[in-house]
Amino acid sequence: MLSIVVPCFNEEETIRHFVDAVDQALAQSTHTLEYIFVDDGSKDQTLTVLKKLNAERPTTIHYLSFSRNFGKEAALYAGLKQAQGDLVTVMDADLQDPPELLPQMIAMIEEKNLDCVGTRRKNRAGEPPIRSFFSKAFYKIINQFSETKMIDGVRDFRLMTRPMVDAVLEMTEYNRFSKGIFSWVGFETEYIAYENRERVAGETSWSFWGLFKYSLDGIVNFSEAPLMFASFIGALSCVIAGIALIFIVVRALLFGDPTTGWPSIVSIMLFMGGLQLLCLGIIGKYIGKIFLETKKRPIYLIREKSDSVKSTQ
Ligand code: UDP
Ligand code: MG
Repeated sequence: MLSIVVPCFNEEETIRHFVDAVDQALAQSTHTLEYIFVDDGSKDQTLTVLKKLNAERPTTIHYLSFSRNFGKEAALYAGLKQAQGDLVTVMDADLQDPPELLPQMIAMIEEKNLDCVGTRRKNRAGEPPIRSFFSKAFYKIINQFSETKMIDGVRDFRLMTRPMVDAVLEMTEYNRFSKGIFSWVGFETEYIAYENRERVAGETSWSFWGLFKYSLDGIVNFSEAPLMFASFIGALSCVIAGIALIFIVVRALLFGDPTTGWPSIVSIMLFMGGLQLLCLGIIGKYIGKIFLETKKRPIYLIREKSDSVKSTQ
């Protein structure tokens, strides 16, 4: 069986297109299909559409609906938890992940004995240039500093075997960053590239600011480099201050001690104060993550689900 996990947030216009396209792409496939739609607290008619689809095809189309918007990461986790298939794919509802690739991905997994076939975008056509710029910068930074490598342009769209899905589900952290999680678990993965495409309908739910925060989360969740950076500039400013101190003492001994130079003292104090606050901020970010993690809150809460969905949290 092949499970298709689809997080949906305000996707009333796209879901039917999505199901049609996937059905068509997999018409020749020998696998039984199972759709798991996760309604991530949509404000539009997404849930109504899902209920209709479930009524039409109760054995293939399942849904669960969150009590509020918990974010795509939570929706993915919930969907993976429900998936019964020995092959599981995660796809966006907006058809930016081409379903035509699925047969090829299934063939690759079976022929090459892989655990996962991921996808990445060859280009970023149709994306605002500054968004592309910051995305590129993000991948540079994370790959420089983090042990967990992430490939530029990699999508969440991937096909996984059961062992890999179980591994992903074992990572029960509250701060979820799927790109990092998929990479962290390892397993034999190959990527196929495709041309970027626009969504069939609806609008992206990511604002620039939202993406920026998401990328900072990605860095904090999968790297301790910012903490090292804080220690590094702390050590560096100590060394500089030491040299300056020696210089001043020697100068005072040789040339006496005229009381000039208070503007430089003020600037140095402000600079040091700024550095300290910056480092505190970095440490605070990590403490915030620890705080949320230790509360052990549920990653999502279900308000409604189709009958076929087993009730787990
Ligand atoms: N999504 C979600 N919860 C959210 C935001 C997005 O489940 O809070 C889903 C959305 O319905 C879509 C996928 O995540 O299926 C990708 O979202 P979107 O297309 O808005 O992002 P983009 O493709 O522009 O990065
Ligand atoms: Mg999209």
